[in-house]
Amino acid sequence: MNEFQLIQHYFKQAALSFPNKNVIQSIGDDCAELDLLDNHTLHISIDTLVEDVHFPKHANPYDIAARALCVSLSDLAAAGASPIAFTLAITLPKIDADWLSEFSNGLAYIAQKFQCPLIGGDTTKGDALIITIQVHGQCPRGASLKRSGACVGHKVYVSDVLGEGAGALKQVLASPKNSEGLAQQYFYPLPKIEYGIGLRNKASSCLDVSDGLVQDLNHICTASQVGMNVYSENIPLSDLLIKTVGKEAGLQFALSGGDDYQLAYTAQNCDQGICIGEVVVGDQVLVDGAVPSAKGFQHF
Ligand code: ADP
Ligand code: MG
Repeated sequence: MNEFQLIQHYFKQAALSFPNKNVIQSIGDDCAELDLLDNHTLHISIDTLVEDVHFPKHANPYDIAARALCVSLSDLAAAGASPIAFTLAITLPKIDADWLSEFSNGLAYIAQKFQCPLIGGDTTKGDALIITIQVHGQCPRGASLKRSGACVGHKVYVSDVLGEGAGALKQVLASPKNSEGLAQQYFYPLPKIEYGIGLRNKASSCLDVSDGLVQDLNHICTASQVGMNVYSENIPLSDLLIKTVGKEAGLQFALSGGDDYQLAYTAQNCDQGICIGEVVVGDQVLVDGAVPSAKGFQHF
């Protein structure tokens, strides 16, 4: 099988590269061509996942693919954008038919769930498995969510429980082919697309929690030039996380662990989400009145 047959067979398959109202030209030409809804803005985000940095290379290819597309789509959720389509640049050490079949099925599962087809990409050979996904989304002009915009007096919210992704890491590294239990959240962090759309014109700022709650909330503080008081007793933890690692460790995972892909946002008053604190005068996040010690995930 050569590169072109590979693209045709695994990536241009109907379950993955399906048409939608925005797609004029998909896989097969020099460029994909997209149409936007009238009076909408285009939102673009790109993420690279490197084997054994962002996922264990011996995990199920189906799970690897699902995670890769979920974490990319999560950035659209954070902007309040709805998905249009994605592109995929993949570097593979070799052509392994079984691996590619499972991988493309995992992509198709998430692509269909969020109506976000694959419309193009690039396929190359290299020493390591590297997956780059660029997602494209749209939002009514002026309604998107940004990191800037939080104001003193607003409250701080999260969309759901935190800490499971980081709490799963030990299990994921020890048995990468097991995507049950906590690992479900690690491999399938379903992007909060509808939730983000629901926050349009409600949230004053928003982002997705990818690197740890405190580090990510600090991005809102910097962009909005405010501080935050967060109260650890308000941070939602799942029963499964508490049962697996205990409450103390669970809270640390939630504060600084990363891999959650929940939304964290501020609003004057919001009828959805879990309130964990408030926006104050300042320049950083304080947890229970103190600067938290552990940092979130950083590459360098
Ligand atoms: P070009 O040489 O013009 O860059 P390629 O030969 O790389 O085109 O790709 C041929 C077609 O297949 C293009 O439409 C491209 O978008 C698509 N394609 C290549 N790799 C992938 C991939 N991994 N996923 C989806 N589409 C792909
Ligand atoms: Mg090319």
